[in-house]
Amino acid sequence: MPIYEYVCNQCGRKFEQLVWSGTAAEEITCPSCGERNARKVMSTFGVGRSGGAGGAIGASCPAATPGCGTGG
Ligand SMILES: [Zn+2]
Repeated sequence: MPIYEYVCNQCGRKFEQLVWSGTAAEEITCPSCGERNARKVMSTFGVGRSGGAGGAIGASCPAATPGCGTGG
């Protein structure tokens, strides 16, 4: 029994819903506001990282700036 995460477009509530094969997103009812206006979201496992991909050095220093980034 697959469980998917949904986000309500009406109130922004995120919830999990057990979904059988063939169930359309339009059939998912928000438990918070009762609207059938939710969209399926990907699982958050392993995709929580955002930004910071090796950009720790000189991120705010323009190139060839004397004393910048060396603590000077
Ligand atoms: Zn809602």
